[in-house]
Amino acid sequence: SKQQIGVVGMAVMGKNLALNIESRGYSVSVFNRSASRTEEAIAENPGKKLVPTYTIEEFVDSLETPRKIMLMVQAGAATDATIQSLLPHLDKGDILIDGGNTFFRDTMRRNEELANSGINFIGTGVSGGEEGALKGPAIMPGGQKEAYDLVAPIFEQIAAKAEDGEACVTYIGPNGAGHYVKMAHNGIEYGDMQLIAESYDLMSRLLGLSVDEMAEIFNEWNQGELDSYLIEITADILTHKDDETGKPLVDVILDAAGNKGTGKWTSQSALDLGVPLPLITESVFARYISAMKEERVEASAKIKGLDVTPFDGDKKELVEKIREALYFSKIMSYAQGFAQLRIASEEYGWDLNYGEIAKIFRAGCIIRAKFLQKITDAYAENPELKNLLLDDYFNEITQKYQKSVREVVALAVQAGVPVPTFSSAIAYYDSYRSADLPANIIQAQRDYFGAHTFKRKDKEGTFHHDWYTK
Ligand code: NDP
Repeated sequence: SKQQIGVVGMAVMGKNLALNIESRGYSVSVFNRSASRTEEAIAENPGKKLVPTYTIEEFVDSLETPRKIMLMVQAGAATDATIQSLLPHLDKGDILIDGGNTFFRDTMRRNEELANSGINFIGTGVSGGEEGALKGPAIMPGGQKEAYDLVAPIFEQIAAKAEDGEACVTYIGPNGAGHYVKMAHNGIEYGDMQLIAESYDLMSRLLGLSVDEMAEIFNEWNQGELDSYLIEITADILTHKDDETGKPLVDVILDAAGNKGTGKWTSQSALDLGVPLPLITESVFARYISAMKEERVEASAKIKGLDVTPFDGDKKELVEKIREALYFSKIMSYAQGFAQLRIASEEYGWDLNYGEIAKIFRAGCIIRAKFLQKITDAYAENPELKNLLLDDYFNEITQKYQKSVREVVALAVQAGVPVPTFSSAIAYYDSYRSADLPANIIQAQRDYFGAHTFKRKDKEGTFHHDWYTK
């Protein structure tokens, strides 16, 4: 008999996803370019309804029609190569699902190319890492709606479940919409991580708190507004000790962060769309500057900040202000990220449902957090909301917490502790709520040196001033 679904790619994500699908009662054919990974996956999981196949023909032939094939291979050229190897063996109406971290424009291209040969193509974001893939990821599918409907029952079963029992999967929109939302999710993840790192740095450098004390604080934060996976794992990370030295593990881990490019794509897309996305972009740059470890060490010997007297105020009070600053800044980041989704949706004709997107982020994925419910509520109240900051809840809470972020940023700047995302958060807030910005000067300069013309506040039309005669 034939299997109900196939998974290509038996590296960590594909293997775990196949096991997740199998655990819901489906029979799954698996295939991997190199046979060894397939053999390994089968050997590790005796008694499971995973059916190994060792040629593309055998794999395709083992599946019920219309075939449902999930690709979990390296994004980019590997995904194209895999699709090309499958294509000659597929029939019209078959459904190819790419679950890799694919660039959304590649998904748009593949969706169009494959549609010409009658093959349905779903590009889907899958978030939650290895454990999510196995136990329940957040899933962001985009592509032909009719094709998605055929795989929806499987996706709903394998997806993470939110507290109210709802599956963390929803049809996102046509062609590249799912992968775009996954990309934006990852960008937001970069921002959240950098904000937490800055909070840690402030508590460490400004307040001199120990790693143990900080673990306790993150733990407390996780009980309130900041309740989220990334805060939770940070609290846990801080409790781990190095086996060799007995020191806190974070103290021996090198301060140079890598990346796989999804944060960069988010910022690049924002630049292309003309959407301000300063917080996420700062967090991408923060990773880049972190990676310049040697250069920073050299510079630190030569370039000195100010000598400042150590903080001698109430530490507990300042910790609470840092918490408020973190929540404030997180809101700025999500406001920017969701504003980007809105502009992208208009540009690419995706008709995104922002409340539903926030909903599926509530469990399974890396940015899962209690606070996402507030975003869902905001869009339920007003689906056309231009910016989250205009929603009553977000408006009130950010007005309330702005004092803390201003104080924290001022202290950090004085003490020479870099807070690129905290400071960009307050700058965005102040820019967004400014009826007047100094761009009048920019307009005048552009007209002055390049005759680019300008508009006036008091009347319609385009004007040019003869700047060279007084
Ligand atoms: P990798 O990204 O490391 O990819 C390895 C897989 O790709 C192997 O099956 C490998 O086959 C296959 N592959 C590589 N090159 C080719 C090629 N030229 N032709 C055919 N197959 C090829 O695996 P992961 O499991 O980490 O990730 C799979 C996908 O899921 C990626 O797109 C990743 O970005 C995405 N993802 C990963 C997450 C994670 O936490 N790791 C989270 C969410 C998404 P072979 O064994 O023959 O080399």
